Amino acid sequence: MSTTTSTPIPATLIPGDGIGPEIVDATLAALDALGAPFEWDRQEAGLAGVKSAGDPLPKAALDSIRRTRLALKGPLETPSGGGYRSSNVRLREEFQLYANLRPALTIVPGGRYEKVNLVVVRENLEGLYIGHEHYVQIDNDPHAVAMATGINTRQGSRRALEFAFEYAVANGRKKVTLVHKANIMKALTGIFLETGQQLYESKYKGKFELETVIVDACAMKLVLNPWQFDVIVTTNLFGDIISDLVAGLVGGLGMAPGANIGANAAIFEAVHGSAPDIAGQGKANPVALMLAAAMMLDHVNRQDLATRLRTAIDQTLNVDQVRTGDLGGKASTPEFAQAVVARI
Ligand code: NAD
Repeated sequence: MSTTTSTPIPATLIPGDGIGPEIVDATLAALDALGAPFEWDRQEAGLAGVKSAGDPLPKAALDSIRRTRLALKGPLETPSGGGYRSSNVRLREEFQLYANLRPALTIVPGGRYEKVNLVVVRENLEGLYIGHEHYVQIDNDPHAVAMATGINTRQGSRRALEFAFEYAVANGRKKVTLVHKANIMKALTGIFLETGQQLYESKYKGKFELETVIVDACAMKLVLNPWQFDVIVTTNLFGDIISDLVAGLVGGLGMAPGANIGANAAIFEAVHGSAPDIAGQGKANPVALMLAAAMMLDHVNRQDLATRLRTAIDQTLNVDQVRTGDLGGKASTPEFAQAVVARI
């Protein structure tokens, strides 16, 4: 047990939808065992927000994050096609969470790829995800044409690129790969490429190597030889896709944490969604959210506790061989959590 006493750190807790409450309970059990200093303000959002307050992003949840500037969040359900706009996207916009950091590290050996250790930094606010979409009616078909507008700005590109470059320097990473599609979307992703190259030449040359790769080639290279990558930085849509691909290299979505970092707040979450197909069955793997909690501990400068949590997860998976079904094991979510607690 830690002997350090520390000032409580106010933080917002959003259990979310589907498997969210199950993996949040498991993660809280591990954080409690560590004596993590968070003082939680529990709030609802997503479908749970609609049920409790008639709003997928209730004002109380927003006010809480405005106050704490720090949150741990379960997945929030978003209807596909029609329905309300993604609460995740709204949270990113509200708190200007411009960089999405998604590390991918092999923890469980014996999968298809051993010893993968790379990080994807995704620009989180711009591009084709800004929600400027509409249909055009022709004759009797109201959905005859669908249109979307993407916007990338010099300033928006620059802050995400700068975050990735600073991350590379601070973490002793040797190479940053800037992923784009500037051969086809010459303006939309060309501005990201050009800004990255200029920033590198002016401030970072010699600190690490910068390479540029087109997104389709990057997908192939990741599958053939992921070890050639170190830090990947890319625009919103490509980053969303590439980071799920990378999660697949290290054991699937149940193993992939993410941090949304911005000027006004930082929100930590698992990369995966609410997994409605397994919700309420005690089958969810809580590792992704536990690793997100470890990133949150890093963020508040409690690297000591973050390391203990990561070590406990590693020992549970690899020494005790306690694993949930997605990793070929038999443990339920609470059983896995108890095994991690026993290792803390
Ligand atoms: P999903 O990530 O929820 O599930 C994809 C597959 O992976 C499912 O078979 C699921 O059972 C499995 N899976 C995911 N997490 C797992 C875990 N921890 N343990 C074991 N298996 C796991 O993706 P989806 O089904 O496309 O999306 C469901 C909902 O989640 C949608 O409403 C979507 O909008 C939302 N979503 C939210 C977030 C977020 O809040 N950050 C992210 C992605 C999707």
